[in-house]
Amino acid sequence: MTVLESAIERYVAARTLAQALECLREVEGATVLAGGTDLMPQTQIGRRSIGPALVNIRRIDELRGIAEEGATVRIGALTTITELMTNEIVRRRFPVLVETGDHFASDQIRNAATVGGNLCNASPAGDTLVPLLVLDASVELASLGEKGIERRRLPLREFFTGPGRTKRAPAELLVAVHVPVPAEGHFARFFKFGTRPALDISTISIGLAATRRDGTLADVRVAFGAVAPTPVRSPGTEKALEGRRLDAATIAAAAKAARDEVQPIDDVRASAWYRKELIHNMTARMLTHVADA
Ligand SMILES: Cc1cc2nc3c(=O)[nH]c(=O)nc-3n(C[C@H](O)[C@H](O)[C@H](O)COP(=O)(O)OP(=O)(O)OC[C@H]3O[C@@H](n4cnc5c(N)ncnc54)[C@H](O)[C@@H]3O)c2cc1C
Repeated sequence: MTVLESAIERYVAARTLAQALECLREVEGATVLAGGTDLMPQTQIGRRSIGPALVNIRRIDELRGIAEEGATVRIGALTTITELMTNEIVRRRFPVLVETGDHFASDQIRNAATVGGNLCNASPAGDTLVPLLVLDASVELASLGEKGIERRRLPLREFFTGPGRTKRAPAELLVAVHVPVPAEGHFARFFKFGTRPALDISTISIGLAATRRDGTLADVRVAFGAVAPTPVRSPGTEKALEGRRLDAATIAAAAKAARDEVQPIDDVRASAWYRKELIHNMTARMLTHVADA
């Protein structure tokens, strides 16, 4: 008997959102299974345990699909990284998410790993978190109330509360991510640094989004991954860029603001000092690429 089999009292392969939500409401501490690429390895090494019920959500059609809905694009929670990279709407509207997928694990993992799982796992180094933050995404959460399915939306910026922790209530499912359709002149970039070129967790990551207006930057959003307990926006860096031309002085000021603002820790992958230097140098490099483009 595997660790998993011995731990589960009830396994539910839900076919509808209501079935899954009912199980989450009825069984306290039930565990959600999507692609399993975080849940299974973490369970195997004893970092976490499965609750009294395992709710497999992979067969729920409502959690799939990518569609334009007015001013936003809805990305279903079960969208895999491969689907994200190959979807026509994403490729046209958010090429930064395709770029992010390119840095994400291997083909095998990308075929199973879901966007919802990446967000709910809430690793400060999770790769989709940073670009979705700078794209100003929000998450849609659903639960089963007295009158049926209840939904709420939360800006992604408010969703993460610590490593592996979010504002998702135990009886809620993340149903979809909503990303505003970018304005004319909008661009976004993602950069990930790991200690080896493939299959690596971020030592740091950087996201940048802005709109070019008359040669200056507007609506600037900058976020960093793996430098704090959650991925973070960087208001200091954003301020150093907002309304400015991307010349050498602006780039130097923004890179310095970025280094001053992040508060990383020492861990097995890098020291805090090294992470700060990476943030400084890679922010400058990313901005230089944007200026030269
Ligand atoms: C070899 C390897 C390499 C990896 N490389 C990367 C990488 O480069 N970048 C990266 O970011 N990650 C990486 N990961 C981590 C993992 O693949 C991703 O975080 C993935 O997106 C998780 O999605 P999943 O569908 O597999 O989630 P699962 O493992 O099924 O679930 C993850 C967590 O989220 C919860 N959950 C899942 N979906 C929902 C939902 N809709 N609503 C509520 N709760 C939910 C689960 O209960 C669990 O707690 C790697 C993992 C492995 C094994």
